[in-house]
Amino acid sequence: MYIAKNLNTNELGHLTIGGIDSLQLAEQYGTPLYVMDEDLLRENCRAFKGSIDKYYGGRGLVTYASKAFCCKAVCKIAAQEGLGLDVVSAGELYTALQAGFPMQRVFFHGNNKTPVELRQALENGVGYIVVDNLDELRLLGTMAQAAGKVQDILFRIKPGIDAHTHDFIRTGQIDSKFGLALENGEAEEAVREALAMPGVRLVGLHCHIGSQIFDIAPFELAAQVMLDFIAKIGSELGAEIEILDLGGGFGIQYTSADHPSSYDEYMRRVSSVIAARCAQLGIDTPFVVIEPGRSIAGPAGITLYTVGSVKHIEGVRTYVSVDGGMTDNPRYALYQASYDVLAAGKAAQPRTETVTVAGKCCESGDLIQENTQIQPVQPGDVLAVLATGAYNYSMASNYNRIPRPAVVFVKDGQSRVAVRRESLEDLLQNDLD
Ligand SMILES: *Cc1c(COP(=O)(O)O)cnc(C)c1O
Repeated sequence: MYIAKNLNTNELGHLTIGGIDSLQLAEQYGTPLYVMDEDLLRENCRAFKGSIDKYYGGRGLVTYASKAFCCKAVCKIAAQEGLGLDVVSAGELYTALQAGFPMQRVFFHGNNKTPVELRQALENGVGYIVVDNLDELRLLGTMAQAAGKVQDILFRIKPGIDAHTHDFIRTGQIDSKFGLALENGEAEEAVREALAMPGVRLVGLHCHIGSQIFDIAPFELAAQVMLDFIAKIGSELGAEIEILDLGGGFGIQYTSADHPSSYDEYMRRVSSVIAARCAQLGIDTPFVVIEPGRSIAGPAGITLYTVGSVKHIEGVRTYVSVDGGMTDNPRYALYQASYDVLAAGKAAQPRTETVTVAGKCCESGDLIQENTQIQPVQPGDVLAVLATGAYNYSMASNYNRIPRPAVVFVKDGQSRVAVRRESLEDLLQNDLD
């Protein structure tokens, strides 16, 4: 019983990903190791694109939120699959540029873009800048005008929707560092200012109501709130809003306790709410953008570790320590995120042991999972943590001067290194004597 459809076991009882024996990958590339199934990544891109094309009749775009997992290889895949790309920093934009990603399909997000980042976006012809606040609007307006450009922008709006997710990753409230609020007139003020600025062209509105959301209803509600605002600023201020960007946040299955809605069903329901509301408001249906990150990359990845020690503390718990930890996956330490863990070489056997999987960092909170069920393990065994394709590699650090693991892509029974393992020399490359 496995969570991702690309995972299976072979005749040796080993876990396979994309048809390849995970123990063979661990042997060949070493551990810790991120493994991404390129076929599933592409399938996820195609599923979203197929749905948006179906329900919005070609008037929609799926942009991959690259912060979930950003490297040149994944930017190239998103480009090949006809997706747009969200970036939130100079580093993500630089990665996209180096991957040859078409800049007209790039959306630059973030609540505090620096002047250097804005200049980089203007100079490279980024399609859309999603402006977060009035300070940024004024700065960008001045910079674009000075450069003799007219930059297409969207505004990030707080639609005030509670998406029932974890507090740390909830971003739709008025008490959020992201975006412009509707309630206090801030958003309207920004629209008024933008319309008077020669350096920017306000083409759209954007919202992103949270992450790992399972319900469809908050997305429907957000779409309605946004359309109401589009109608209001259309009639009162003469703003012509062509693009409605509804963000990402679609939940994925980390463990059997998670039950995500089907993304096609999301698209069907939200598109019909949009059509109905636009008809009611007497406005044109906007071009719709969605921005999945986790739901594209997350299910496609697993992480492989080697067990170094098994510490059984009688009457307390059993710690299974692995050769990675919060440096390659900080999500348990940050949000007590749930993961499914199994012994890759015994994947077909029942999970009879309750253990805590610990990392090797000098932090007691450096855990991958507490009180999780796995097969009996001993030092030298390979563990697989499932659904680590999003917000693992992209959140990795060098704490304790631990080099980041390699990322290997598997496809058609073949594997290739997409991001090489950091070396000890890499760790010192910026150190001066
Ligand atoms: C993080 C983020 C996304 C992607 O969120 P997921 O939960 O990974 O789908 C999309 N849009 C914006 C603006 C974001 O900040």
